[in-house]
Amino acid sequence: MTEPLIISVSGMRGIIGGNLTASIASEYGCAFGTFLRTARPQERLSVSIGTDSRPSGQMLKSAVTAGLTGAGVDVIDLGLVTTPCVGISLRELGCAGGVVITASHNPIRYNGIKLLLSNGIAPSPDVAAKIKKLFFEKSFGFADSTGCGKVTSDEMADDRHIAKVLAIIDKETIAARKFRVALDSVNGAGGRVTKTLLAELGCEVFAVNDEPTGQFSHNPEPTTENLADFCRVVRAEGVDIGFAQDPDADRLAIVDENGGYIGEEYSLALAAQYIFRQKTGDAAANLSTSRMIDDIARKAGGRVIRTPVGEANVASAMLEHDCVIGGEGNGGVIDLRVGPIRDSLVGIALVLQLMTDTGKSVSELAGEIGGYCMSKDKFPAGQDQKQRILDSAKTTFAGAKLNNTDGCRFDFDDGWLHIRSSNTEPVMRVIVEAKDQATAQKYIDAVAKIRDDITS
Ligand code: MG
Repeated sequence: MTEPLIISVSGMRGIIGGNLTASIASEYGCAFGTFLRTARPQERLSVSIGTDSRPSGQMLKSAVTAGLTGAGVDVIDLGLVTTPCVGISLRELGCAGGVVITASHNPIRYNGIKLLLSNGIAPSPDVAAKIKKLFFEKSFGFADSTGCGKVTSDEMADDRHIAKVLAIIDKETIAARKFRVALDSVNGAGGRVTKTLLAELGCEVFAVNDEPTGQFSHNPEPTTENLADFCRVVRAEGVDIGFAQDPDADRLAIVDENGGYIGEEYSLALAAQYIFRQKTGDAAANLSTSRMIDDIARKAGGRVIRTPVGEANVASAMLEHDCVIGGEGNGGVIDLRVGPIRDSLVGIALVLQLMTDTGKSVSELAGEIGGYCMSKDKFPAGQDQKQRILDSAKTTFAGAKLNNTDGCRFDFDDGWLHIRSSNTEPVMRVIVEAKDQATAQKYIDAVAKIRDDITS
């Protein structure tokens, strides 16, 4: 079956050799360049570009670069870097935007072109719609023979990123602990920079899948079923903690010292636990993120601002409310002092600092936070069915506190559930969380009944 090329607020994703080709990428680069030049016509503009480790990255980078320079925008090539690296560098270099060639956690046959604006955040839906329109209508503003953009290289991206992360923790105290750390970078972009960071932090590193070959050694999404081998490595090496990244290293999953996968939700919770020991303030998280962060923030006198799903929504809310920590439950930790972008290196540094300051193991720290039973599911639904399902849920769960900024999230005393339409697939996603499995099952069953009544 032919899959459609997906164009969302964060960019474009498709199948290499199928619907994502050099000519498509070049036109998308040209559309982005045209958009930037139209907004600031009198200025000389530049865009930073980086790729993850997929073999198709070079081809897409060359094509996007051709489009951008053809539209009169200079391009700064950062090479093979992580997504947060591009977000940080483009701000430091004063660029008008950034491009990351990555399909994140998706399998190798995919690649993507992720767009960032000058603030390091993906475009808002309004802006994304304008870029999309330029692309589909081929309304390109080509530069003339003297106006084409230039291409330069910059090899400081990793150093810049590491310096920013080191500035938010106490390197000396962490180094004194001489942590033994396992790292699985799934042969993505994260291995090189993360090993350098961990060396700076005095850690002894047991790295697996740390060559940026793009030959993903397992399904690259850092979930429990994909990290069974890594959990065995953690157990066999007897390390203090295991860190697993996705291919562009914006997501982080943690394995405890016993080789137990503690779940991506804990990456943000543990980072927040450290931050709220130091600071007062508010946090931001998307509507599908665990209540653990609410519990942690509340104890520190803070609150959690809930946003629609999507990194840009969380990052924008954090900037608006000057949040001290934020992110998404899929292992995406954001600290504005480093950048308004999900960053596994930030998560790693904050968790190691929490272990250092408390003298506790990661399993003890996770145990102290407590936890919930969370269940995630998705099912196919047409546009009309999606609306009817949401309407029916509002009736069924009329007694709950409702947030309908992204589908419907219903909060109950003993749990919550979130039903929303996927941005990237013709499905509805359901996330349920409760203190115990029986309560979670009660909500799962209630949603299943609504689904079956409408779709069968
Ligand atoms: Mg990613």
